Amino acid sequence: MRFQLLCEWFEKLEKTTKRLQMTAILQELLSELEYEEIPVAIYLSTGELGPKYDMLVLGLQERQVMKILASLTAHPLDVIEERFKNVGDLGDIIYEIEDKGKQTTLDSFFGAEEQNKNWEILEVWNELTKLARKSGKDSEAMKISTAVNLLRDMSKLERKYLVRTLVGKMRLGAKDSTWLDATANATGIPIEELDWAYAVRSNIGRVIQTAIKEGLQGIEKLKIPRVGIPIMPMLPQRATSSLEIWERMNSKCLIETKYDGFRIQIHRNQDSVNLWSRNEESYNSIFPEIITGIQEALGNHTAILDGEVVAYNSQTGEMESFQKLTNRRRSYGIKEIQKEVEVKVYLFDVLYVDGESLMEKSLLQRRKILDQIVKPHELFEISHSWSCNSPEEIDESLLEAKTRQQEGIMVKSIAENSFYEPGKRSFLWLKYKADYTESIGDTLDLVVVGGWKGKGKRAGYYGTLLMAVYDEKEEVYRTICRLGAGLTEEDLENLTEEMESLKVPSKPKDVISNLAPDIWVKPTIILEVAAAEITDSPVHSVPSLTGEFLSLRFPRYTGNRRTDKSVPHGVSTVQEIQELAKSLKIGKSK
Ligand code: ATP
Repeated sequence: MRFQLLCEWFEKLEKTTKRLQMTAILQELLSELEYEEIPVAIYLSTGELGPKYDMLVLGLQERQVMKILASLTAHPLDVIEERFKNVGDLGDIIYEIEDKGKQTTLDSFFGAEEQNKNWEILEVWNELTKLARKSGKDSEAMKISTAVNLLRDMSKLERKYLVRTLVGKMRLGAKDSTWLDATANATGIPIEELDWAYAVRSNIGRVIQTAIKEGLQGIEKLKIPRVGIPIMPMLPQRATSSLEIWERMNSKCLIETKYDGFRIQIHRNQDSVNLWSRNEESYNSIFPEIITGIQEALGNHTAILDGEVVAYNSQTGEMESFQKLTNRRRSYGIKEIQKEVEVKVYLFDVLYVDGESLMEKSLLQRRKILDQIVKPHELFEISHSWSCNSPEEIDESLLEAKTRQQEGIMVKSIAENSFYEPGKRSFLWLKYKADYTESIGDTLDLVVVGGWKGKGKRAGYYGTLLMAVYDEKEEVYRTICRLGAGLTEEDLENLTEEMESLKVPSKPKDVISNLAPDIWVKPTIILEVAAAEITDSPVHSVPSLTGEFLSLRFPRYTGNRRTDKSVPHGVSTVQEIQELAKSLKIGKSK
């Protein structure tokens, strides 16, 4: 398919706000694509070049792209920057300029004649991936010259979307799950099967390509993990009372220590080891000792393990703080920091061993296998767990955790069907924290969608932020509170700068809000927020289960910027808020 034609489909998507219509457009588009074009069209529609774990990122800043536009025209950078301040989208700027011809200050943008080379989508993607792979000293200059060459030979519509791809802001509203819905409609494969395969393979293009060509049989094969490819981790729901836990678990559960570190997924096949974060980012360069250690601990086994890496003092045998561990994320001086911040991995699950997927085995079976395959090693320990025979024991365990300075416990189902549910926030796992009686029980991870200019000491910054949670069903962000408390001057300075770079001209398509902040931003920045209560709200847009709207009372930034999480799945969800509101109500009435 020509890139021009794909861009015409993008135009249709851009004009659509209804999810059903969007799904129908994607379904039609799927039927027009050649087999090998399917993944590429999907990635490009979401502003990506491949699955996240491939790390094919263009990495061009808006300012760099403005420089490219300046180099293509006779117009100075500051004129383009000024225009960008008003319009907010570089793709729209190119398009608008050419539409309005001579009436604009940037009239001679690309010269009079269009020089369309009739790019095929695979050709464009090839050029872009070459560009993404460039690294080293001269890479920026080379990236710029490749981008200039591409843009020169394109039609105005192609330029609009190419420029958006360069800065990674497609703004079409087509999400991975919309693509999966379209595929379910096109193939008749149940959506749950597609979701599962996607969670195991983390590669939307490959899953959809397989579904179209091989149907359900192909998808069944993708549900088996592949060593080296990250699996989306299973996550816990929250609980705010032991009775609630006891009921949800049908009196069959295991309590585990809740470790305070980074989630880590370890893939090992002979000499090849991959360490993945919960965001599918590689931890290989950050934890080199785990790579060597796991080869020793696993003997000859090929396996995928799940656990938490924590900072650890081998002299005292004590775990250390989360803050200390975050020093490990520094990309330089890893040798020195390795000595300064020692680590240990607490393993709590195993998903695959020697050719067999274990995800559909019960938790007790998986833990038994985990015990058998991991040899004693100073860097690894199986997570501490104990059985539980009453709700009182759950509360006792929580109190003990508190005396050990731990913030809570994990409670996991041991029913026959206590499977590993990849990519799901599941009720088979519950986290239960100590401060539930004093506040809403847990911090939330909220995303910044906008902000208001500050006054007085906060002048010059966005002093109040508009925060949102993610609605998994509708795939939109819904606002839940304004946030000002807990933000230090340094936070405000950093956030303001970052928000400027994420600025969008109007309310993003996927944000639901009744408010009008001074700036709207692409939902990207995730902040951890504590709050006193969940209350009814006349202004925010998170629906409660009873049809009202909810907001947070006395929200406060905890100082914890969640760089280990990413949108959308790292953001607390509407569904979590509803559950939390429900259980807080139950708690109060008792
Ligand atoms: P916190 O609740 O500490 O703020 P969080 O915001 O990352 O953590 P969730 O998104 O609910 O909370 O994820 C729970 C996380 O708890 C897991 O992703 C994992 O990293 C961590 N964890 C610690 N101990 C365990 C354990 N025994 N079993 C499962 N997960 C654990």
